[in-house]
Amino acid sequence: MKTYHIITIGCQMNKSDSERLAGVLEKQGYKKTDNKYRADLAVVNTCGVRQMAEDRIYGLIPDIKKANKKVKIILTGCLANRKDVRNRLKNYVDVWLPISEITNFQTKAKRGNDYLKIKPKYESKFSAYVPIGNGCDNFCSYCVVPYARGREVYRPVKDILGEVKSLAEKNYKEIVLIAQNVNSYKSGKTDFAGLLKLVNNIKGDFWLRFITSHPKDMSDKLIKAIAGSKKVCRHIHLPAQVGDDKILKMMNRKYSIKHYANLIKKIRRAMPDVSITTDIIVGFPGETEKQFKNSAELMKKIKFDLAYIVRYSPRPGTAAFKLADNVPQAEKKRREEKLTKILKKTAFDNNKKYIDRILKVLVEGGNKAGELFGKTATEKNVKFSMANKKDGLIGKFVNVKITKARDFGLIGAAAE
Ligand code: SAH
Ligand code: SF4
Repeated sequence: MKTYHIITIGCQMNKSDSERLAGVLEKQGYKKTDNKYRADLAVVNTCGVRQMAEDRIYGLIPDIKKANKKVKIILTGCLANRKDVRNRLKNYVDVWLPISEITNFQTKAKRGNDYLKIKPKYESKFSAYVPIGNGCDNFCSYCVVPYARGREVYRPVKDILGEVKSLAEKNYKEIVLIAQNVNSYKSGKTDFAGLLKLVNNIKGDFWLRFITSHPKDMSDKLIKAIAGSKKVCRHIHLPAQVGDDKILKMMNRKYSIKHYANLIKKIRRAMPDVSITTDIIVGFPGETEKQFKNSAELMKKIKFDLAYIVRYSPRPGTAAFKLADNVPQAEKKRREEKLTKILKKTAFDNNKKYIDRILKVLVEGGNKAGELFGKTATEKNVKFSMANKKDGLIGKFVNVKITKARDFGLIGAAAE
């Protein structure tokens, strides 16, 4: 029997795409192997969002080919369409596979969002990504996604509901709806607020999450739908990118800081328990010290629970690529560290409020010392002990009494 191994780099979208790819390969009779150097077929699902993610493949792919001359290598994901990447790896890669054509290989071509119809092989037995669309129309000036994934396409409501229903029947405990910009979802008359309500009404004991929201498209109607849907977790990931209006404009983000702060106010008013996370970029071309300080101010003001703080990375083909990448690496590093310090403080302050409270935790794993870990609906990592430890708790909900707070996590003990 032929074997396959999939290496996934990058975001949740890529992880979800890999699950669909695995579904196709298994249908064709391939069997999964954990050893990338021994597989008959090695699939590398690439990420082009930052240079660091891109660089990972230049060592990895030749290594796989050198270890096993007979391997067939498929390159898919963000970098599959980049001419310079194709040229650089032409001696190693056998098939270049744009993600929208994942069944194209060996079987008939499927284009656009048809690939979303493929039955995936879920990595987890209790948490699943359910894609609701693909692509992006926003063209933020730094971002490669609209070029790599193409324009927005959305999946029909009934396909999404069908997938979630079958997961709920299998007792999945966490459903994550994913698309580059979930707020723009549209299928017939159903918008994202409508979709959330429909998924919320599916029978079953599961948490419902969604990523990613764009501040320009988050409507009052959507905030109301989230607050009114019991299964939807009290956690909003809302990338701000920076705290300065002029840089936001250069980034083509189409909102102001005032709008962003006002949104957060509305979200917190509707859901006092909500946790708020974000993405922040430091060192965008021309970002002055004063403009950077505005990002620091925003972080102090909003008091995020978590932020993915990254250094700007020029991406070929994007509008910002034409601007000089003139904030030195060392300065980007300093800015990143400064923001991380603010984040640690706000996250810790937010976490203290959970002490002595009993929270529902989805158990994700355990260690040899007998501790279990999982996360809350607000996406806080929790490490906890359990006196009468029962087996088989992974993938189940457990009530945990919180005893201690950390920057990015909570400590507790099972409450039952
Ligand atoms: N659609 C989502 C996610 C896009 S990519 C959104 O709009 O938020 C995920 C994150 O990667 C972005 O939010 C951004 O912070 C970061 N990112 C994208 N391009 C980047 C670049 N060229 N340099 C640094 N970070 C980048
Ligand atoms: Fe990239 Fe902006 Fe689209 Fe997000 S919204 S994927 S950052 S272009």
